[in-house]
Amino acid sequence: MMKKKQKRKPKIKLQKTKKILKKSKEIKKNKFKKLKTKKQKNKEPRKKGKYSPKILRGMKDILPEETKIWDFVCKRLTELAESYGFQKIETPVLEERALFEKSTGLSSDIVEKQMYQFTDRGGNSVVMRPEFTPGIVRSYIEQGMFNLPQPIKFFCFGPLFRYERPQAGRLRQLHQFNFEVLGSAKPVVDAQLILFSQAFFNTLGLKVNIQINSLGCPSCRKSYRSKLMNYFRAKQKWLCPDCQRRLKTNPLRILDCQNPDCRELITRAPQLVDDLCSECQSHFVKVLEYLDEANVIYKLNPYLVRGLDYYTRTVFEFWPERPEKPINDSLLQGEEEKKITNELQEKEKELFSSPSALGGGGRYDNLVESLGGRLTPAAGFAYGLDRIIEEIKIQDLKVLKSKSPQIFLAQIGEVACRRALKLFEDLRKQGFKVGENLAKDSLKAQMEMANKLGVKLTLILGQQEILDKTIIIRDMHSGNQEIVDQEKIIKELKKRLK
Ligand code: AMP
Repeated sequence: MMKKKQKRKPKIKLQKTKKILKKSKEIKKNKFKKLKTKKQKNKEPRKKGKYSPKILRGMKDILPEETKIWDFVCKRLTELAESYGFQKIETPVLEERALFEKSTGLSSDIVEKQMYQFTDRGGNSVVMRPEFTPGIVRSYIEQGMFNLPQPIKFFCFGPLFRYERPQAGRLRQLHQFNFEVLGSAKPVVDAQLILFSQAFFNTLGLKVNIQINSLGCPSCRKSYRSKLMNYFRAKQKWLCPDCQRRLKTNPLRILDCQNPDCRELITRAPQLVDDLCSECQSHFVKVLEYLDEANVIYKLNPYLVRGLDYYTRTVFEFWPERPEKPINDSLLQGEEEKKITNELQEKEKELFSSPSALGGGGRYDNLVESLGGRLTPAAGFAYGLDRIIEEIKIQDLKVLKSKSPQIFLAQIGEVACRRALKLFEDLRKQGFKVGENLAKDSLKAQMEMANKLGVKLTLILGQQEILDKTIIIRDMHSGNQEIVDQEKIIKELKKRLK
């Protein structure tokens, strides 16, 4: 009787989940079709038989409108990192393939399926880094940094490459801001990394949900592994083909699977926190106590495992928290669709899964040693910048203070253009933010640009002004114009823009 019940129960639920997912997919597909045709209208038509360059799948151009947000976020992060004592490190994009096999792990999705790898002209097997930590650990060992006062704190930023199936929030060239603390086993380090993140998300005004778990050490994981194996073996036929394979190679990895059928089973799987050895348990309790002391709100997530082999003890992730959130609200309309979105959100929460984590990390106490260094406990984490920028847009955060120019410099004619080129430099050196379009001849077009920029004053240089060594100052608000000596322009601007 018992057996029958266990088999029937998940099947009904799974069918419901599948139905919801299928319906939402259809709605999205139709919406995407509409969006696609809109987008295509703006594109240059492809000429038959001619090569027309196109971006690779899963890659993204970051255009000026967006680079402003990127620069802002990176600047904030750099300042914050330095104030917490992190130093910047840069490691190469290319590393030996073996480095990731021995650290990220042969059974990880990254090493198994996602690496951009090739043999270079010297016959070396290399990969374009899919994550930062192994490269930093290699550098730490190779450069003898264990001789420096410990712990040592690093941060870095850059592109990573993973051959994933492209979808919303999942790119093949992604960008991370990454942090590592090497040389301390203290739980306070784990807690401070999380506090750092809370400070960062607060400065942006981004609402996130902190998820935390402990993966214990290899010894406590051993008994948990066999418990997990027994649990999933009994439900093997409902697992996706990948997880059926993971069951043999690394059953813990099943907990990371995003397949809805598997996630359904995961919610009832044994929990690792129940099997922690006394040292790991005490470490975890201390981390949580530090967080409580600092009033950090977090959520214990017993099924958070992170996809890499080297994690030990504390692991954590930051999930976006949207007030009236939509997985893709903009893509869904109408009551029925809203209902489906809500059901999906509920499911997502219930299943402890977030495919849209903004960042995550954890402790990796054995990694340095396993790569040939001394025993060096360490912890680190990374933010997915592409997702953070998207989230800033989704949560409609006004992170950028407008820095548009206060002055526009317009010119008419070749001689005036030459004078304007020099005047622009003089004004810029004096600290004025000046708009210009020296490539345009028409005053009308330049005035339109000045209007668009919303400047307070426009300076106009024409042939007469060049002869008289004067310049026109136009107040864009009142429309009043005044002629001033070129020599006095800086003093005049300082007075007017005070
Ligand atoms: P991981 O290195 O896998 O622990 O990922 C850390 C963070 O990087 C994630 O929480 C995401 O925000 C981001 N990330 C990971 N993979 C991708 C991807 N393929 N595309 C965009 N962002 C990603």
